[in-house]
Amino acid sequence: MKHAIVTTAALAMGALAGPAVAANCLEVTLTGVQGGPPVFRGQGGSGTLVTYGTEENNCRDVLMQFDAGRGTTQALSKVGVQVGQISAVFLTHMHSDHVEGLPDMMQLRWHFNSTGPKVPLICSEDTEADQGHVVSCAGFAEHIGDPMIESGEIAQRLSESDVRLPGGPADLIELATFADTDDPVEVWQSGDVTVSAIFSRHIAGHASFRVDTPAGSVLIGGDAGNDTPAPPRSSSTSEQVEALAQGAEVIVHSTIHPVMGPDGSTGFPPPIYYRQSTATDLGAMAARTGAAHLMLTHLIPPMGAPRQGPYPLPAPMTEADYSDAARDGGFEGNIVVGTDLAKLRIVGE
Ligand SMILES: [Zn+2]
Repeated sequence: MKHAIVTTAALAMGALAGPAVAANCLEVTLTGVQGGPPVFRGQGGSGTLVTYGTEENNCRDVLMQFDAGRGTTQALSKVGVQVGQISAVFLTHMHSDHVEGLPDMMQLRWHFNSTGPKVPLICSEDTEADQGHVVSCAGFAEHIGDPMIESGEIAQRLSESDVRLPGGPADLIELATFADTDDPVEVWQSGDVTVSAIFSRHIAGHASFRVDTPAGSVLIGGDAGNDTPAPPRSSSTSEQVEALAQGAEVIVHSTIHPVMGPDGSTGFPPPIYYRQSTATDLGAMAARTGAAHLMLTHLIPPMGAPRQGPYPLPAPMTEADYSDAARDGGFEGNIVVGTDLAKLRIVGE
């Protein structure tokens, strides 16, 4: 576990002014950094917890979960967050490694928190892929409890409690979808916190998010890549993400190492490589947008792994391999090469 505690100049100034008012703060926790469907050494599936509040409340007045891959419930419990406390869930896209932890989260919340608030689930509207199938967050949400309904588990638990919602976990979701947009749209708001979204390239319906709070702003890129699906192009990163990231202090982004590219020896499929953003191009983008912190997550390949799924590596990647690649892009700020539960705190005034 790695904690990068960051204190801004604003805090130092606030400290001089005296402790009369609790400082507000923002915290970003990587709930899982596994890149793609494989699993290596028990790494959590892709996801990021962003919380905002006062230091007195451990920055936890508003708790936003972005993607919820394998093991998100466990990751949250390791940082002292119960699924019943999550204010809203945002999904970048419907790849299984970003969403398969959500049925578990919702089942648990239905079990113990049926009388509490519903969970806003914010994601893109149904989108037809180039191949003809429809990518549907709404369909996923509507059927999120179906295996447990089919097994009789929901009926069993309903017979034991009259406060649980009759339709199972799906009844606890308050779905809010947004339409394909090249311009940022505000998709959620709570107090001083707003979340905006923009469509970005990866698979159909992929979106990236930005969280704005009085303590700072966080860009959640998801698996975004460039609109031009293969070279020649100026960058593997997304122009839409770059526009949304302008001025944000923190960029959290899925990352692929150039070792997986077609120039290497891994045999990794080039189209899968090209639809991700490379560590080097992310470093260049973060430099251009003026970010202070670049959190590399969803690492392909995982640090220390001999292979990515079936694709063997010439040598396991190290933290330095990733940070050096991002530095090669020209980024001079703080780089967090993601490990499960890596955390960054920004303290405002
Ligand atoms: Zn993906």
